[in-house]
Amino acid sequence: MKESGMFWHVHHDLLLEYCHSYKERAEFIKRTKSPHEIPIRIKWFLPVEGKLPKEVVDKAKAFNAAQLQHVRLVNSVQFPSHTTLISIDNTERACNNTFLAYKFAIDKHKLELDTLHEKECPGCPWDGEYLYLIT
Ligand SMILES: [Zn+2]
Repeated sequence: MKESGMFWHVHHDLLLEYCHSYKERAEFIKRTKSPHEIPIRIKWFLPVEGKLPKEVVDKAKAFNAAQLQHVRLVNSVQFPSHTTLISIDNTERACNNTFLAYKFAIDKHKLELDTLHEKECPGCPWDGEYLYLIT
C-alpha cells in the first residue's frame, strides 16, 4: 500500500482526494469514527492505481497543502493574537478556495473519474455523493 498520493474515499463525501499519509488517516478513522463505520471506511479507502487527469491531481494536492497549513497553524497556538487570527482566516480562505478549484476539476473530469472508479472500486457503496456507511 502506498503511503501518500491519490486515494478513493479518504472522506465519505468526496470520491477521491490527495492523502499525505495513509497510515495517519487510517489511524484517525479508527480512533474517531463510529464503530459501525470503521470497517466500511477502511475497506474502501483505497489507492488510485490508474492514471488521473493532471488537473485533478494538481488541484487535489493544492487543497491538501492548504488544509495541512491551516490545521498546523490552528494547532500551533493556544491563545492566538489578533495577527494570528488574521493568518488563520487567510489559511481558512485558502482551504475554501482550493477546495472550490478541486471540486471544479472533479466535475470537469467526472466521466473519466467515474469510469476509473467503476473499474478500480467495484461494488463499493458510493452513491455519487456519499459513501454509504450503513451495512
Ligand atoms: Zn468506491
